[in-house]
Amino acid sequence: MRILIVEDEASIAKFVRQGLSEAGYAVDMASDGEEGLSYALSAEYDVLILDIMLPRMSGLEVIRELRNQGNKTPTLMLTAKDTVDDRVQGLDAGADDYLVKPFAFPELLARVRALLRRPPLQSGSLLQIADLEMDTLTHQVRRGDCLIDLSPREYAILEYLMRHPNQVLTRTQIGEHVWNFDFYNESNVVDVYIGYLRRKLDYDSDYPLIHTVRGMGYRMSMEE
Ligand code: CA
Repeated sequence: MRILIVEDEASIAKFVRQGLSEAGYAVDMASDGEEGLSYALSAEYDVLILDIMLPRMSGLEVIRELRNQGNKTPTLMLTAKDTVDDRVQGLDAGADDYLVKPFAFPELLARVRALLRRPPLQSGSLLQIADLEMDTLTHQVRRGDCLIDLSPREYAILEYLMRHPNQVLTRTQIGEHVWNFDFYNESNVVDVYIGYLRRKLDYDSDYPLIHTVRGMGYRMSMEE
Protein backbone atom coordinates (compact mmCIF):
# COMPACT_ATOMS: atom_id res chain seq x y z
CA MET A 1 0.00 0.00 0.00
CA ARG A 2 1.33 3.37 -1.00
CA ILE A 3 0.73 6.53 1.01
CA LEU A 4 1.44 10.16 0.22
CA ILE A 5 2.04 12.60 3.08
CA VAL A 6 1.70 16.30 2.28
CA GLU A 7 2.98 18.18 5.31
CA ASP A 8 5.27 21.19 5.61
CA GLU A 9 6.27 20.71 9.24
CA ALA A 10 9.38 18.61 8.88
CA SER A 11 9.22 17.08 12.35
CA ILE A 12 5.64 15.81 11.91
CA ALA A 13 6.31 14.61 8.36
CA LYS A 14 9.37 12.71 9.50
CA PHE A 15 7.66 11.06 12.43
CA VAL A 16 4.63 10.02 10.39
CA ARG A 17 6.78 8.73 7.56
CA GLN A 18 8.91 6.68 9.90
CA GLY A 19 5.89 5.18 11.66
CA LEU A 20 4.11 4.29 8.43
CA SER A 21 7.26 2.82 6.90
CA GLU A 22 7.74 0.66 9.99
CA ALA A 23 4.12 -0.46 9.63
CA GLY A 24 4.98 -1.68 6.13
CA TYR A 25 3.61 1.10 3.92
CA ALA A 26 5.41 2.67 1.00
CA VAL A 27 5.55 6.38 1.77
CA ASP A 28 6.17 9.47 -0.37
CA MET A 29 6.40 12.97 1.03
CA ALA A 30 5.63 16.40 -0.34
CA SER A 31 6.18 19.59 1.61
CA ASP A 32 3.84 22.05 -0.08
CA GLY A 33 0.41 21.96 -1.69
CA GLU A 34 1.49 22.25 -5.30
CA GLU A 35 4.04 19.48 -4.98
CA GLY A 36 1.47 17.35 -3.16
CA LEU A 37 -1.10 17.84 -5.91
CA SER A 38 1.36 16.95 -8.63
CA TYR A 39 2.47 13.79 -6.74
CA ALA A 40 -1.13 12.77 -6.06
CA LEU A 41 -2.00 13.12 -9.75
CA SER A 42 1.06 11.32 -11.05
CA ALA A 43 0.88 8.08 -9.04
CA GLU A 44 -1.80 5.75 -7.72
CA TYR A 45 -1.86 6.23 -3.96
CA ASP A 46 -4.00 4.16 -1.64
CA VAL A 47 -4.25 6.89 0.98
CA LEU A 48 -3.41 10.57 1.03
CA ILE A 49 -2.54 12.34 4.31
CA LEU A 50 -3.01 16.02 3.73
CA ASP A 51 -2.26 18.92 6.06
CA ILE A 52 -4.61 21.91 5.70
CA MET A 53 -2.15 24.76 6.31
CA LEU A 54 0.42 24.37 3.56
CA PRO A 55 2.61 26.76 1.59
CA ARG A 56 1.74 27.61 -2.03
CA MET A 57 -1.62 25.81 -2.04
CA SER A 58 -3.75 24.88 0.98
CA GLY A 59 -4.81 21.32 1.71
CA LEU A 60 -8.40 22.34 1.01
CA GLU A 61 -7.46 23.60 -2.45
CA VAL A 62 -5.52 20.41 -3.12
CA ILE A 63 -8.39 18.10 -2.19
CA ARG A 64 -10.89 20.18 -4.16
CA GLU A 65 -8.71 20.05 -7.24
CA LEU A 66 -8.18 16.30 -6.91
CA ARG A 67 -11.90 15.62 -6.60
CA ASN A 68 -12.65 17.96 -9.50
CA GLN A 69 -10.33 15.91 -11.63
CA GLY A 70 -12.10 12.70 -10.60
CA ASN A 71 -9.35 11.50 -8.28
CA LYS A 72 -10.94 9.46 -5.47
CA THR A 73 -7.92 8.58 -3.33
CA PRO A 74 -9.16 8.19 0.27
CA THR A 75 -7.90 11.26 2.11
CA LEU A 76 -7.20 12.02 5.76
CA MET A 77 -6.91 15.73 6.49
CA LEU A 78 -4.73 17.02 9.30
CA THR A 79 -6.09 20.13 10.99
CA ALA A 80 -4.11 22.35 13.32
CA LYS A 81 -7.02 23.43 15.46
CA ASP A 82 -10.16 21.62 16.34
CA THR A 83 -12.63 24.08 14.92
CA VAL A 84 -15.91 22.97 13.43
CA ASP A 85 -15.22 25.19 10.41
CA ASP A 86 -11.99 23.42 9.54
CA ARG A 87 -13.54 20.00 9.82
CA VAL A 88 -16.68 20.89 7.89
CA GLN A 89 -14.68 22.58 5.14
CA GLY A 90 -12.36 19.60 4.85
CA LEU A 91 -15.15 17.06 4.62
CA ASP A 92 -17.15 19.22 2.22
CA ALA A 93 -14.12 19.65 -0.01
CA GLY A 94 -13.95 15.87 -0.39
CA ALA A 95 -11.85 14.57 2.50
CA ASP A 96 -12.91 11.21 3.93
CA ASP A 97 -11.72 11.76 7.48
CA TYR A 98 -9.73 14.22 9.58
CA LEU A 99 -7.37 14.16 12.51
CA VAL A 100 -6.64 17.07 14.84
CA LYS A 101 -3.03 17.93 15.70
CA PRO A 102 -1.37 16.98 17.92
CA PHE A 103 -2.31 13.34 17.48
CA ALA A 104 -0.97 10.04 18.71
CA PHE A 105 0.55 7.92 15.97
CA PRO A 106 -1.55 4.81 16.76
CA GLU A 107 -4.68 6.86 16.06
CA LEU A 108 -3.34 7.99 12.69
CA LEU A 109 -2.48 4.40 11.86
CA ALA A 110 -5.98 3.22 12.83
CA ARG A 111 -7.58 5.87 10.63
CA VAL A 112 -5.35 4.94 7.70
CA ARG A 113 -6.34 1.29 8.11
CA ALA A 114 -10.03 2.27 8.22
CA LEU A 115 -9.64 4.23 4.96
CA LEU A 116 -7.90 1.30 3.31
CA ARG A 117 -10.80 -0.99 4.22
CA ARG A 118 -13.29 1.10 2.29
CA PRO A 119 -14.13 -0.12 -1.18
CA PRO A 120 -12.79 2.59 -3.50
CA LEU A 121 -16.02 3.34 -5.29
CA GLN A 122 -18.03 3.74 -2.12
CA SER A 123 -15.95 6.63 -0.92
CA GLY A 124 -16.80 8.49 -4.09
CA SER A 125 -19.54 11.02 -4.26
CA LEU A 126 -20.74 10.40 -7.78
CA LEU A 127 -24.37 9.76 -8.72
CA GLN A 128 -24.86 8.48 -12.24
CA ILE A 129 -27.73 7.67 -14.58
CA ALA A 130 -26.74 6.86 -18.17
CA ASP A 131 -24.44 9.71 -19.27
CA LEU A 132 -25.69 12.07 -16.56
CA GLU A 133 -23.28 12.51 -13.65
CA MET A 134 -23.62 14.46 -10.42
CA ASP A 135 -20.75 14.99 -8.02
CA THR A 136 -22.39 15.64 -4.65
CA LEU A 137 -19.18 17.10 -3.21
CA THR A 138 -18.30 19.61 -5.88
CA HIS A 139 -21.94 20.03 -7.01
CA GLN A 140 -20.86 19.62 -10.61
CA VAL A 141 -23.37 18.12 -12.99
CA ARG A 142 -22.49 16.83 -16.44
CA ARG A 143 -24.38 15.23 -19.23
CA GLY A 144 -21.84 13.59 -21.51
CA ASP A 145 -19.05 16.12 -21.91
CA CYS A 146 -21.30 19.05 -21.16
CA LEU A 147 -21.09 20.84 -17.82
CA ILE A 148 -24.60 21.86 -16.75
CA ASP A 149 -25.21 24.98 -14.71
CA LEU A 150 -28.05 24.53 -12.19
CA SER A 151 -29.60 26.81 -9.60
CA PRO A 152 -29.49 25.47 -6.01
CA ARG A 153 -33.18 24.49 -6.22
CA GLU A 154 -32.77 22.71 -9.54
CA TYR A 155 -29.75 20.91 -8.14
CA ALA A 156 -31.68 19.78 -5.08
CA ILE A 157 -34.52 18.36 -7.17
CA LEU A 158 -32.14 16.60 -9.51
CA GLU A 159 -30.21 15.09 -6.60
CA TYR A 160 -33.44 13.75 -5.12
CA LEU A 161 -34.46 12.22 -8.47
CA MET A 162 -31.01 10.71 -9.04
CA ARG A 163 -30.97 9.14 -5.58
CA HIS A 164 -34.21 7.35 -6.48
CA PRO A 165 -33.65 6.09 -10.02
CA ASN A 166 -36.46 4.20 -11.75
CA GLN A 167 -38.97 5.14 -9.05
CA VAL A 168 -42.07 7.22 -9.54
CA LEU A 169 -41.86 10.25 -7.26
CA THR A 170 -44.98 12.31 -6.68
CA ARG A 171 -44.99 16.09 -6.83
CA THR A 172 -45.63 16.14 -3.08
CA GLN A 173 -42.64 13.90 -2.38
CA ILE A 174 -40.38 16.04 -4.52
CA GLY A 175 -41.77 19.28 -3.09
CA GLU A 176 -41.44 18.19 0.52
CA HIS A 177 -37.87 17.03 0.02
CA VAL A 178 -36.76 20.21 -1.60
CA TRP A 179 -38.89 22.91 0.02
CA ASN A 180 -39.48 21.29 3.42
CA PHE A 181 -42.27 23.04 5.29
CA ASP A 182 -42.44 25.91 2.86
CA PHE A 183 -43.77 23.65 0.17
CA TYR A 184 -47.24 24.59 -0.93
CA ASN A 185 -48.91 21.52 -2.32
CA GLU A 186 -51.42 23.27 -4.56
CA SER A 187 -48.85 25.15 -6.57
CA ASN A 188 -47.31 23.90 -9.79
CA VAL A 189 -43.82 24.91 -8.70
CA VAL A 190 -42.49 21.35 -9.00
CA ASP A 191 -43.65 21.14 -12.61
CA VAL A 192 -42.07 24.49 -13.32
CA TYR A 193 -38.71 23.34 -11.98
CA ILE A 194 -38.92 19.99 -13.76
CA GLY A 195 -39.44 22.06 -16.91
CA TYR A 196 -36.24 24.01 -16.19
CA LEU A 197 -34.32 20.79 -15.59
CA ARG A 198 -35.59 19.21 -18.79
CA ARG A 199 -34.50 22.20 -20.80
CA LYS A 200 -31.01 21.97 -19.32
CA LEU A 201 -30.58 18.19 -19.27
CA ASP A 202 -32.72 16.63 -21.94
CA TYR A 203 -33.15 19.32 -24.56
CA ASP A 204 -30.20 18.42 -26.77
CA SER A 205 -30.12 14.73 -26.02
CA ASP A 206 -31.17 11.71 -28.09
CA TYR A 207 -32.98 10.24 -25.13
CA PRO A 208 -34.62 12.06 -22.25
CA LEU A 209 -33.96 10.97 -18.67
CA ILE A 210 -36.85 12.69 -16.88
CA HIS A 211 -40.20 11.06 -17.62
CA THR A 212 -43.70 12.17 -16.71
CA VAL A 213 -45.86 9.44 -15.23
CA ARG A 214 -49.37 10.61 -15.94
CA GLY A 215 -51.49 11.27 -12.87
CA MET A 216 -48.62 10.34 -10.54
CA GLY A 217 -45.44 12.34 -10.88
CA TYR A 218 -41.98 11.91 -12.33
CA ARG A 219 -39.48 9.14 -12.83
CA MET A 220 -35.82 9.34 -13.72
CA SER A 221 -34.49 6.49 -15.84
CA MET A 222 -32.89 5.53 -19.12
CA GLU A 223 -36.02 3.73 -20.30
CA GLU A 224 -39.19 5.40 -21.51
CA1 CA B 1 1.20 22.97 8.06
